[in-house]
Amino acid sequence: MSADCIFCKIVAGDLPGDIVAESELSVAFRDLMPQAPTHVLVVPRSHHENAAEVAAAEPQALADMFLLARTVAEQEGLEGYRAVFNTGAAAQQTVFHAHLHVLGGRPFTWPPG
Ligand code: AMP
Repeated sequence: MSADCIFCKIVAGDLPGDIVAESELSVAFRDLMPQAPTHVLVVPRSHHENAAEVAAAEPQALADMFLLARTVAEQEGLEGYRAVFNTGAAAQQTVFHAHLHVLGGRPFTWPPG
């Protein structure tokens, strides 16, 4: 656990989070500012700064995050979903505890706009 990390605090139960699913290695909770009807963040229980750091230090946790994302999608009745990791401030990462955005319930177009 990292002392100043809000997602570590949600995982530990020290900050409120709208938790929708949990596994041994990861926790899923609703994003405070949803960008889609379903917007859930899946985070590893252990503190790692980004997805690559999870892969390097704890590859099983990275796999577990994708499995928990699937569970969330099933619970939410999503036909499909977008799974996104922002990595680095230049890519708009604002919380430096790895998190997988699971977005669904609206159409997605590419390129966005
Ligand atoms: P990112 O910009 O990829 O780092 O995403 C961070 C996400 O965390 C944003 O979508 C925020 O809305 C969300 N967020 C920040 N604080 C909280 C919180 N306490 N509970 C739930 N979601 C949060």
